[in-house]
Amino acid sequence: MSKSKSVLTLLLQIFPQWRPQMYFKASLTALSHAMEDQVLAGSEEPLVIASFQKERFYRQEAQRYRRISQKSDQVYVLAAPETEFKNCSREYETIAFDPDDTLTQEWHLVVLGANYASCLICQEKSVSTSQQMIDDIDNNRRFEGIWTFDRQVTQQAAYILLNTIVEYRPELQEKVDIARKKYLHPDILSQTITQPKNIDNTSWDISPNDPDPFVQRLVTYIQAGQYKLIKANRSLASKEHKERLINSITTAIRLSLDPNEILQIAVQKLGEGLGVCRCLVYRCKETDSTATIEHEFLNKGIASIKGQTWPLKHNPLFQEVVELRDALTIDDAIRDPRLTNDQQQGRLSGKSLQILVNSCSILSWMLVPIFYRGRLLGMLELHHCGSKTMTWKEDDVGLVNAIATQIGVALIQAEAYANLQDLNEQLEALDRTRSNLVAITGHELRTPLSTIQVCLESLASEPDMSPELRQVMLNTALEDAERMRKLVQDFLTLSQLESGRVEWNIEALDLQECVELSLSNVRARHKGTALPKIENHVKDELPLVRADGEWLVEVLAKLLDNACKFTSQEGKITLEVSSQTPYQLEVTVADTGRGIEPKRLETVFDRFYQEEGALRRSAGGTGLGLAICRQIVRGWGGKIWAESQGKDHGSQFHFTIPIYGDQMPKEPSQPTMRSSRQSRSRAKGKRKQMS
Ligand code: ADP
Repeated sequence: MSKSKSVLTLLLQIFPQWRPQMYFKASLTALSHAMEDQVLAGSEEPLVIASFQKERFYRQEAQRYRRISQKSDQVYVLAAPETEFKNCSREYETIAFDPDDTLTQEWHLVVLGANYASCLICQEKSVSTSQQMIDDIDNNRRFEGIWTFDRQVTQQAAYILLNTIVEYRPELQEKVDIARKKYLHPDILSQTITQPKNIDNTSWDISPNDPDPFVQRLVTYIQAGQYKLIKANRSLASKEHKERLINSITTAIRLSLDPNEILQIAVQKLGEGLGVCRCLVYRCKETDSTATIEHEFLNKGIASIKGQTWPLKHNPLFQEVVELRDALTIDDAIRDPRLTNDQQQGRLSGKSLQILVNSCSILSWMLVPIFYRGRLLGMLELHHCGSKTMTWKEDDVGLVNAIATQIGVALIQAEAYANLQDLNEQLEALDRTRSNLVAITGHELRTPLSTIQVCLESLASEPDMSPELRQVMLNTALEDAERMRKLVQDFLTLSQLESGRVEWNIEALDLQECVELSLSNVRARHKGTALPKIENHVKDELPLVRADGEWLVEVLAKLLDNACKFTSQEGKITLEVSSQTPYQLEVTVADTGRGIEPKRLETVFDRFYQEEGALRRSAGGTGLGLAICRQIVRGWGGKIWAESQGKDHGSQFHFTIPIYGDQMPKEPSQPTMRSSRQSRSRAKGKRKQMS
């Protein structure tokens, strides 16, 4: 099918004095409806030709055209088919034109009766894509064309469109001929479309139009349009007001990193902005039983509920919000079934909630949760307390939801800041510890090093030194070198344990065997010195324990070593094991030695703690032994502590160790880490030493 020529272009060729006008789609809709209503209201049987650009535009008007077809049998509807629209003769004629036809760009409505003639012939203006985005509202689509009551122009438009109709549907020739004869002036019929005749205006018999009903309807449409515009403006204004409110609250709460300040600003501004009677916020978790109201905004004359304990766990409203993960609104708290139902298992009965509602004079209620990434941080509540209930608007719920989201972000920021501060403090403390450690280690190493240096210098510079003195010098240097070696070794062991770079070789161990191994170690170490009496009360039939054997022997040996160091040879050392729970054993190394002051019972586990200080030390040692023991015991999930009745009343060192069994956790509480090569070889060396 050939493309038809633009009806507007043809009309303007015939009537060059006519200037096309610009119309918005909204105006064309109003004009078309007014013209159609004129037909519906009238009693004449006019020719009606409507050309819709697309099937979907026509579909919205199909019902109207069915009604129009009851007024006249000369009704033609043209449209570009999209789905079911096709050439058809039913109540009226439908003409499906080619989707490439110029008609797809045009909007036509021709109404031609004996007393009434009107036409709307327009062409859609194509707009740039960017403009289209601005005019995203369909009503802003622009057209250019002619709208007139001029009978001559209307007849000419009808003539052109009837020709197009016959072109598309030749079988309608007869019906169209009847229309031509009935509605068109003979002069129009004698022209050809390609070369339109210049028609003499004066020879036309123009029947008078009665525009009154048309104008009435048009006014109605304009009024309706205006009303829509006012509504749109109102909604825009309220949107703007809300956006401004959200922005101001967001800006205010983002300025603070103090959670309390954030919550107070939020309730204050939100309460003021929405003009509610009471606005409150409290922090809570999903599992909390209650919350304390800490922040509220009150309108004039409203009683404060600050400081009150709010039920959560048994509160069906709170639970519903948590389940829904969304806001909840109650317009009438007195009649709402959730607040009147008394059959709520495990939850506050409606009656109890009613008491709460009455005591706080809540009439309408809104609860909005504050979530951050699915985690409940708190709840915002809005209370209306007047004498009349109020219906919460969806917009208001949306606004409070938006504020709740902002509060969530602000609270998390504040939390992150507080964590950062904590972390900073921890880092500072760590830095202080590191500096202390460097100073102490430096001092501990320098002392024996100076002794060694003095001894070696004397030996080198005084060749005449007596052999006895020479031996003394050498022994002193060797002793201090050994002290340094121990210090370095203990220091490295402690660092490895503290950094978690130790691989635990957890196994089932016979405690008695480990005790005996550590006793022989201690005896070998103190060979030649008189030791206090050591009594081993550990029974043979104990359950196996779950630990790393080498480290267990190390702990026992260190505790026994200390007991030997701080107990005179007249004293006594006792080794005992008891089982306080079915899961663990408690090992005790007790002595009757010099004892520990009660206030030092914790401090003795600090690194480098020595009661006498390193320089005045008589018993030797590095001051790292107990710190190492604590790290080892923690490694298998146990605890270690000291007890003493004070100076010269002896000391008892206790530690717990898990029993080997299915009911025990499989791994030690500290994460198992890769051991360094150094720790492996060290452990191997120790194994040899032990056997
Ligand atoms: P070291 O024994 O090498 O000095 P430790 O860390 O093993 O280091 O012990 C730290 C301090 O705890 C000791 O210097 C001592 O003052 C005190 N201490 C440890 N065991 C006993 C004990 N059995 N009796 C009295 N004091 C003890």
